Amino acid sequence: MPAPLAVGEKHGDDADLAHRRSLCTAVSTLTTRHVNTMGSGNAAMCVAGPQSEKWVLVTASGKGSSAQPADLVVIDAQTAAPVFSGQPAPSIETGMLLKLVGGSQWAEGKTAMHTHAAPVVAACAAGAAIPPFYAIGGALLGCDADGSIPVAGWALPGTEDLARRVAEAMLPAGANACGMQGHGAVVVGKSPQYAAILAEQLHVTAEVANSVAASGNAAHAWKPDARQHRDFRHYLQGSAGCCAPGPAAGTPLAASRLHSPA
Ligand SMILES: [Zn+2]
Repeated sequence: MPAPLAVGEKHGDDADLAHRRSLCTAVSTLTTRHVNTMGSGNAAMCVAGPQSEKWVLVTASGKGSSAQPADLVVIDAQTAAPVFSGQPAPSIETGMLLKLVGGSQWAEGKTAMHTHAAPVVAACAAGAAIPPFYAIGGALLGCDADGSIPVAGWALPGTEDLARRVAEAMLPAGANACGMQGHGAVVVGKSPQYAAILAEQLHVTAEVANSVAASGNAAHAWKPDARQHRDFRHYLQGSAGCCAPGPAAGTPLAASRLHSPA
């Protein structure tokens, strides 16, 4: 076991610090844009260790979107065990985040973000999937089949039950987002910056769904059919526009090596 990481004092090498800053900046963006409030939410990002270990940076418990680089915890992607002693406790939702970016889901830079976005809570209150009336949101976030955004039924925050419900609703469907009944949402992207974009798109998608429902026109509203959804998804994936996946900021992840404290 390496020596304790001196929190607030030593963040590792430049690449390590760049990744920490990248994740914290992306998470704090959600507060600035009112997707999250009062520092709520949390996130996890896949990073390689010095020997190409599969590690995950997780926001510390109680820090959420107010997290600073020293508030991130390094854990093993497979076991969730802390890599260094002396770290702060990880987020209560680490188990859920790891089901989405840990184990066989691990890919360098991949980031899961959990938010408490009020429009999403409203849109998934009934437990049904959020319809893709907003086609961009459906294509970027929703299920492979039709763009609808899956919703996991209520379970207590921080529990294995919640983590299982989210993973089962999201992963087999090929979705990049999932609503959490009575709680919030989670998105998964290729980088912290892209995950933040997805969280904002989910916010808008839920607002549109709520407005359509409030108008009483949901039953007659346009939704993409399977072919339209697939074609639009391919179009967005090939686009260089604002919705295209962006690279992680700072040093390329492949060159990253988190510092092992001496
Ligand atoms: Zn939460």
